[in-house]
Amino acid sequence: MLTETAKKALEKQSYRIIGTHSAVKTCGWTKKMVKGEGGCYKLKFYGIMSHQCLQMTTSISCANRCTFCWRGYKAPVSKEWGWAVDDPEMILNKSLEEHYDLLVGYKGNSKTNQQLFQQSNTVKHVALSLTGEPIIYPRINELLKLFNGRGISTFMVTNAQYPEQIRDLNPVTQLYCSVDAPNKDLLKKIDLPLFSDYWERMLKSLEFLSQKKERTCIRLTIVNSLNDVEPENYAQLIQLGDPDFVEVKGYMFVGDSRQRLNKDNMPWHEDVVAFSKKILKFLPDYELISEHIPSRVVLLAKKKFFVDGEWKTWIDFEKWEKLINSEKNFTSLDFVKKTPSVGISGRKIKEEVEKKKGIYVNEETEELEFWKENKDDSSKDSNDDGC
Ligand code: SF4
Repeated sequence: MLTETAKKALEKQSYRIIGTHSAVKTCGWTKKMVKGEGGCYKLKFYGIMSHQCLQMTTSISCANRCTFCWRGYKAPVSKEWGWAVDDPEMILNKSLEEHYDLLVGYKGNSKTNQQLFQQSNTVKHVALSLTGEPIIYPRINELLKLFNGRGISTFMVTNAQYPEQIRDLNPVTQLYCSVDAPNKDLLKKIDLPLFSDYWERMLKSLEFLSQKKERTCIRLTIVNSLNDVEPENYAQLIQLGDPDFVEVKGYMFVGDSRQRLNKDNMPWHEDVVAFSKKILKFLPDYELISEHIPSRVVLLAKKKFFVDGEWKTWIDFEKWEKLINSEKNFTSLDFVKKTPSVGISGRKIKEEVEKKKGIYVNEETEELEFWKENKDDSSKDSNDDGC
């Protein structure tokens, strides 16, 4: 049970607690998108409409204490499920209710793009990735079915500590495993895992990930002077998980992680690109195809997503909805569509950012016209980094 103190601390950080073990928080990118200030990298890479995205978790509790996590250490830690099991329908309804309530204030905001605000009243995506470990909720498959039935796509992020739950999970639109270090000792130092067999759990999780038919992704979070080493070992772990995509992302010096790391641990975007290229040397089946500079992240995609002369990493959500609700067998290639914008700019942002005395930059993108409205550098105020 979440203690009153922990609950209050989380609510102070704008979390809304749902039932006994779930929580919702508006993503910083959702807020930006409602103001017409651009979307998250999952919009650019996969077509997630950030203003229609619900960020939540079905388990506030986590089995790791990752050094780079921007979320606070106020939430509980545990290895096993120790809560009552809330009803999935209640979790879904209450989460949507709280999400809409958190956004309602934007209606009267002078910066709000009213058309986008209206659209934000219909959630189309859920990112099961907020604090904690959503996959350990015992009725997660029932909840996924409810999301599918309502036409809400599902992205789920796991920290690779619960292999059986990965094996038993019904298909989600895109399943993530985090790989936070290239070797056992570093993983312990960075993730501070509760499980003593944390490394074996990660290897088993990657093995189960490789058996999934849905879209899969491995996420690396690169922290300067900590885990930006041994690219060949990262590549080996990636090959074990055999994902469709790899996201290589720079650690962002935001939120509570600032108490544990310092600004120099945050790689520049160009450092992330350079390190990805080192990993890529050992991954002949992948290509570096896109970047999102504000999030300091790049996308490595499996070459099979280059279809008929174009990259197709975006999701055809209508097709996804039909397939997932039809109970037919399908693969990750059955619901793709063209990625509107690909390529690596080669921009060196260190100098640009230092001139502005900030730590973020905006990115000019072409795929969605409405990004161009009301644009300013509001990302400077961001205190979180999305999912
Ligand atoms: S960063 Fe994650 S939670 Fe935020 S809008 Fe994008 S997909 Fe949704």
